[in-house]
Amino acid sequence: MAGMHYDIVIVGGGAGGLELAARLGRKLGRQAGKERVLLIDRSSYHIWKPTLHEVAAGTLDAHQEGLSYSILGRSNHFSFLLGELNDFDPIAKRLSLKPILGEGGKVLVDERSVTFTWGVLAIGSGSNLFGTPGAEQAHLLERTEDAEAFHTRLLAAFMKASFSPEKIMSVAIVGGGATGVELSAELIEAHRELLESIGAEQRFRLDIAIVEAAPRILGGLPEKISDQATVALERKGVRVLTGAKVLAVHADRLETSLGETSADLIVWAAGVKAADTNTAYGLETNRGNQFVVNDHLETSVADVWALGDCAAAPWVDGKLIPARAQAAHQQASYLAKALIARLGQRRIETPFIYRDFGSLVSLGENRGVGALMGGLGGPNFFVEGLIAKWAYISLHLDHHRAIMGTPKTVVLAMARLLQQRVAGRLKLH
Ligand SMILES: Cc1cc2nc3c(=O)[nH]c(=O)nc-3n(C[C@H](O)[C@H](O)[C@H](O)COP(=O)(O)OP(=O)(O)OC[C@H]3O[C@@H](n4cnc5c(N)ncnc54)[C@H](O)[C@@H]3O)c2cc1C
Repeated sequence: MAGMHYDIVIVGGGAGGLELAARLGRKLGRQAGKERVLLIDRSSYHIWKPTLHEVAAGTLDAHQEGLSYSILGRSNHFSFLLGELNDFDPIAKRLSLKPILGEGGKVLVDERSVTFTWGVLAIGSGSNLFGTPGAEQAHLLERTEDAEAFHTRLLAAFMKASFSPEKIMSVAIVGGGATGVELSAELIEAHRELLESIGAEQRFRLDIAIVEAAPRILGGLPEKISDQATVALERKGVRVLTGAKVLAVHADRLETSLGETSADLIVWAAGVKAADTNTAYGLETNRGNQFVVNDHLETSVADVWALGDCAAAPWVDGKLIPARAQAAHQQASYLAKALIARLGQRRIETPFIYRDFGSLVSLGENRGVGALMGGLGGPNFFVEGLIAKWAYISLHLDHHRAIMGTPKTVVLAMARLLQQRVAGRLKLH
């Protein structure tokens, strides 16, 4: 088992970890021909998680969108190591990565171990199935592979429906949060694009049901946003079933407190929870398996930090900072400054303060809805339509700017726009 040492090791190259690695790498550069910052991820390429519903619907191609960690490392001066965390010892400052397996489970690369001076955990979160019987049969949107697997099933279901006598296909989405709402809007776009490309005799109807236990969808957001989204979705034919608690999931139907809903495809988009394995690393965790951090993002063990969805960071009124990309983005930028200060033997006294800039929900290609907070229009500035959609897209561009700089972000955005114009927006293969 080979060993290696880095000054700073970041585990998880998502919305928070990758931005942190890029910022630190650019600042610290290399020393004696070796990078000082190591980023570890179980995937070899990065997809910004808030776009997974687009990958699932086929309105975004993961292979065009994906950015290789190794190439990002080269331009931002951090090293990258592919591997899934096996063990993390915060006291000994050592971690190990699971072996990489090839075809037939054959070991391609043995377990590796890395020691570090400072460690940062940014491994995100997964779905919360709330112990619902059969829920593991539903499609999840945790990883790119999940979104691609859903897309493959979606294309097969589209094909089946277009040649079936009933000419109907159904999707049930459990959870009326932002993910469920955005996925339904994106599926409608995908279906519309598909109908434009096939003959009249093959056209079929898409029936989407959002099943939500709470009295309204987008429960965490202001009621006005929830109302607007409900109206927009119902206008597009989505059935919004609120107050319907899912009791069990079967291969072809949901049992809910309001009755049964049958579906060709079922997606579970309700609730987030960090990995169970987080509790095995000797760090303080909460009931949701998140690493408990203080207002400097420090975990219960010195010289180990956590950020993003996997961290339980204090916010206001005893609440925790929400599991959102904008929180991970702000934490990455704070931690980069804090760690650079620490290298100069200083401790940043100012705690991390999360600024909620509002919430935006995409309702399809040219439409969004949301509320922007602060600066722009007072405490709650309601936005909708194209403005909201552009504000939503700007979050994604901000992430790309943090990891690639402005010129490359502009070139990439233009290239993707041109690609869509030439080859079409919907991925049908
Ligand atoms: C469909 C969808 C839509 C969303 N839309 C929005 C939105 O509009 N706005 C918003 O603010 N938020 C949104 N979110 C939430 C947002 O994506 C997360 O809050 C954000 O990505 C958290 O960033 P992170 O860096 O903590 O984790 P992630 O971005 O999830 O990154 C975690 C990284 O860690 C890696 N990793 C995990 N476990 C291991 C391991 N054991 N070993 C090695 N590597 C590991 C993963 O591969 C991944 O690269 C959405 C989420 C989903 C699923």
